[in-house]
Order: sequence, then C-alpha cells, then structure tokens
Amino acid sequence: MELKTGRVVRCPQCGGESLWSPDNRFRPFCSERCKLIDLGAWASDSYRIPDQESGIRDRESDQ
Ligand SMILES: [Zn+2]
Repeated sequence: MELKTGRVVRCPQCGGESLWSPDNRFRPFCSERCKLIDLGAWASDSYRIPDQESGIRDRESDQ
C-alpha cells in the first residue's frame, strides 16, 4: 500500500526537504520561493540548451 500524501522529496532548487502532497502546490519544490527562482532560471540564459536550439534552426534552414 502506498501512501499518497506526506511523501518527502528533495527540492530541486534548494536541496531541502519538500512535501510531495496535494497540499503542496509548489511541488516538487518546497516553497513558492523555490519555484519562482527555478522559473526565473528557465527564463534566463542559464538554462538554455544550445544543441536543441541549433537543431531547430537547422531544420528551418533546410526549407
Ligand atoms: Zn526549496
């Protein structure tokens, strides 16, 4: 039997404990702050994947 509430996972942002439950709408993050920080990182250049972008550009230039 698996417990669906109260599971503790590691917050990807701060590495702290995060409660994985329907009550935690920021999951897998531990808090709203960590979620916002992560979203901000995605919006910035730090998370950009050059390979993916160049692959898309190559396809477009084929046509
Ligand atoms: Zn966190």
